[in-house]
Amino acid sequence: MRQFFADARAAVRWACTVEGSAGRPLSARMLDRSRPRGDDWTETATQAGIVWRTLKPLSGAPISTLVARMAPRTIPCRCRRACCKGERTSVLWHDAIEILCASALSAGLACRRYAERQVLLVRIYGEHRTNREIAAELGLDEHTLGRHAKDLELWIGLRGKEGVEPQAWREATDLLTGAGILGEQESAES
Ligand SMILES: [Zn+2]
Repeated sequence: MRQFFADARAAVRWACTVEGSAGRPLSARMLDRSRPRGDDWTETATQAGIVWRTLKPLSGAPISTLVARMAPRTIPCRCRRACCKGERTSVLWHDAIEILCASALSAGLACRRYAERQVLLVRIYGEHRTNREIAAELGLDEHTLGRHAKDLELWIGLRGKEGVEPQAWREATDLLTGAGILGEQESAES
């Protein structure tokens, strides 16, 4: 492994960026700026694979919190349709939100509506919207929504050391350190 990362966040962000371009032609992917300079695509893909394999024990909700946090939400789209805005939602990011939607239900949170969990998770992972806006859109009571939002944020661990995401980052750090993936950035010249 020639690519070293300062911390788990950097490793996951990098693996997500490489992965985020999946589905595009290899020729286009070869031109990605996210590709570490001097490495060929095969090596890049192999290294991203090593990061994902190392993090495999976190599958399900834990890895999904890391991906939802670090993956680009949109990726460039080159479909050339007239209606295309030049970007589309990243499948990787979208899947992570879907897995968290399902996991939150299994975790027994009071928020039973799928659409509500989805909108609240999208907000946790970067969209700026108020409880009032969301409640109005979904036709829900604002106070009930606020309570559900707090439950969900507590479960994810949005503002604390406990919760699915903080725990997942601790475990990811241990796994990546154990695999020798975290450490000093190696100079390309040396
Ligand atoms: Zn398009």
